[in-house]
Amino acid sequence: MSFDDLGLSADLLQAVREAGYTTPTPIQEKAIPLVLQGRDVLGIAQTGTGKTASFTLPMIEILSRGRARARMPRTLILEPTRELAAQVAENFDKYGRNHKLTKALLIGGVSFADQETLLTQGVDVLIATPGRLLDHFERGKLLLSGVQIMVVDEADRMLDMGFIPDIERIFKLTPFTRQTLFFSATMPPEIQRITEQFLQNPVQIEVSKPATASATVTQRVVTIPSGDAVTRRAALRAVITGCTVKNAIIFCNRKTDVDIVAKSLIRHGFNAAPLHGDLDQRFRMQTLDRFKSGEVPILVASDVAARGLDITDVSHVFNYEPPRHAEDYVHRIGRTGRAGRAGAAFTLAAPEDGKSIAGIQKLLGYTIEAEAFAGVPEERLSQDERRSRSAPRSRPGRTGRPPPQRPEGIEEAGMTPILAVEAVAAPASSNPRKAASPPRSWPARQREAQPAPSRNRGDRAVVGFGDELPAFLARPFTSA
Ligand code: AMP
Repeated sequence: MSFDDLGLSADLLQAVREAGYTTPTPIQEKAIPLVLQGRDVLGIAQTGTGKTASFTLPMIEILSRGRARARMPRTLILEPTRELAAQVAENFDKYGRNHKLTKALLIGGVSFADQETLLTQGVDVLIATPGRLLDHFERGKLLLSGVQIMVVDEADRMLDMGFIPDIERIFKLTPFTRQTLFFSATMPPEIQRITEQFLQNPVQIEVSKPATASATVTQRVVTIPSGDAVTRRAALRAVITGCTVKNAIIFCNRKTDVDIVAKSLIRHGFNAAPLHGDLDQRFRMQTLDRFKSGEVPILVASDVAARGLDITDVSHVFNYEPPRHAEDYVHRIGRTGRAGRAGAAFTLAAPEDGKSIAGIQKLLGYTIEAEAFAGVPEERLSQDERRSRSAPRSRPGRTGRPPPQRPEGIEEAGMTPILAVEAVAAPASSNPRKAASPPRSWPARQREAQPAPSRNRGDRAVVGFGDELPAFLARPFTSA
């Protein structure tokens, strides 16, 4: 099937071609004709399936007929995060380039006044996070009674973030006759209830998870002797240095760790920036742009901030620790290996992470191989070692290297200063990740714990964990 068969007009097909797409994805193939027919759609699909274009393309087609009225948006798209909202807006720009559509973006961090001016003039598309939308509504600047199409995207994320009461309220503010397009990766009972209440005779489209971890992503666990912050950070640095990183996302479970890890990497000479929900919106957008452009090759992120980000070409994902929920692991590693490209995902696993690793392996249905890296701490560090490893050996400035420059505008905006020091990329020829099978440097207990015979894959030592957790993951190490 080609895009030409879906009922889209020539202008839109041209924009699709210019975006470089030749074949519709399964959800696009199914959803686009249905949306054009005016049907309600329940899409059970994750990000990465092409679901954004499955609603933006037919919406542009429908919107090309008719005109916007003051304060009454014709269509409404709700997104759980500002980044996703901004991404959908970019999609409208990309596919709507041959149409004169107006849009407003109601998200935190974007000026109320500017958006209100747009709303007053009338917009075809309103893209918003639920809280911001209701703020504007309560200020009396917005009427939702003209909404013809309402999209709820990433509904299960909205549920996680506590937005469901807001969503219900927004549904009730829109006309009963609206067309509803509703997307969720999973269907927990609360989401099921909402769809039953607010969708009318929807066509359900379920596309398989791209998440059954793309075959193009090489996954490895890197075992560390303890889960304290200093050990994790030292191990992380060793793993990054041991890989030929073009650009990477490092995931942490806590926002505070996102900040600490980013700062620590910077102090150690890496070019990194943090991304999480508590950071100023302008700074988050700026950081994303700098990451996308390659100016900052390492992004340290929380799950919520990184969810659904459309960054096509990430070479590495590093998990500072395994995520609390196994599904998040699949989302995290799905940031790399996109569009058939090769990617690699490394997860630091301390003894206390054993349960999380077991949960991930259960979800995946297979075991993740372990890999050793030179420089990863082998035993629990002593107090002295921790102290020395928490600080860089040579601080910038003391070595005669000029202190790094702070990017402009960061401090006055009250943001954490991010220092761009130098890009990280170990040349392949000097790759220190060389270990025979198993490497001599591995701790004795780690070698003992191998449940399956290790396989020597050239320059890598790999070992399967099997269903049983090895002893070194299940109980803590003691210093030798
Ligand atoms: P989404 O699931 O909407 O986040 O889209 C995932 C990625 O697929 C984005 O990078 C899109 O630009 C890309 N994409 C969307 N539709 C197509 C298509 N028909 N062919 C190739 N790539 C696509």
